[in-house]
Amino acid sequence: MHSSKGAFTCTLFLRIDSAGAKQSVMIIRSRFAPSPTGRLHLGHVLAARIAFSLARDSGGAFLLRHEDIDAPRVREDFYQGIEEDLEWLGLKWDGTALRQSSRIAAYEAALESLRERGLVYPCFCTRREIHDEWARMGAAPQGPEAPIYPGTCHKLTSDEQQTKLVSGLSCGWRLDSRKAHELAGPLTFRDLRFGEIPVDPDLLGDVVLVRKDIGTAYHLAVVVDDGFQQINHVTRGEDLLSSTHVHRLLQVLLGIPAPLYLHHPLMLDEAGNRLAKRCDSRSIAALRDSGLTPAQVLDLTDPPPGAAIVLS
Ligand SMILES: [Zn+2]
Repeated sequence: MHSSKGAFTCTLFLRIDSAGAKQSVMIIRSRFAPSPTGRLHLGHVLAARIAFSLARDSGGAFLLRHEDIDAPRVREDFYQGIEEDLEWLGLKWDGTALRQSSRIAAYEAALESLRERGLVYPCFCTRREIHDEWARMGAAPQGPEAPIYPGTCHKLTSDEQQTKLVSGLSCGWRLDSRKAHELAGPLTFRDLRFGEIPVDPDLLGDVVLVRKDIGTAYHLAVVVDDGFQQINHVTRGEDLLSSTHVHRLLQVLLGIPAPLYLHHPLMLDEAGNRLAKRCDSRSIAALRDSGLTPAQVLDLTDPPPGAAIVLS
């Protein structure tokens, strides 16, 4: 049994292959990281199942992390619901589930480390101001899914920054992606489906690392916590592939080892839309209440779209 807070005592062990040669084999540590803002649906089951299988098939550890930093939407009964559903499905995790809400000090320390090196800057913009700036630019700079930040606060002088900070104006913190990439140099990450991918420094622009309201944001929290939980195989939906470019950069800046990635296909409904939490009829609780067994629910995600993945 591995504790999420325990020391990572052994990353490699030796296996003797059929020819009698010693091979080093990495002990896989994977995780499932849902947000307790709703009940699990079949898309979650697929994600949990892939992370679970990857770890268990190799004698590794499967960890659970509640990504509960979006406090207004989090409810205590959803933590319990997620854990009940996973246990009912037989996807039991090792150790105690980690809650991101208990990790704010770690995110603050990571931000401070970036701030000391001038790799982040305060952003005072409201959503409205960002939209106005895009309109002024004529064409918003495009990212893979949405327009990217127009760089308004990057242009502030340090005096202007100080004046705003001293006046008590609330701010988030953005990564200075250009400066960060210059420091880190060319990077790649490895995905078990897509192979070696060069990190594109301009893909997502100056992302928010700390939101005004919650003391962190997705990109920072996930990198810091995957490092803390010593996750060496990050499995998640392919919709997050573009985020990995930022995550790889943050790992270098924060001295966190690079995990292997597996960005798996998403489960879609009959209309080809991504399953969303609001599809209550597909929640695991509803499927269980309708009389399905755990095996039958797991079968609904079978064959997993990621079944063709060949681990190398
Ligand atoms: Zn701004």
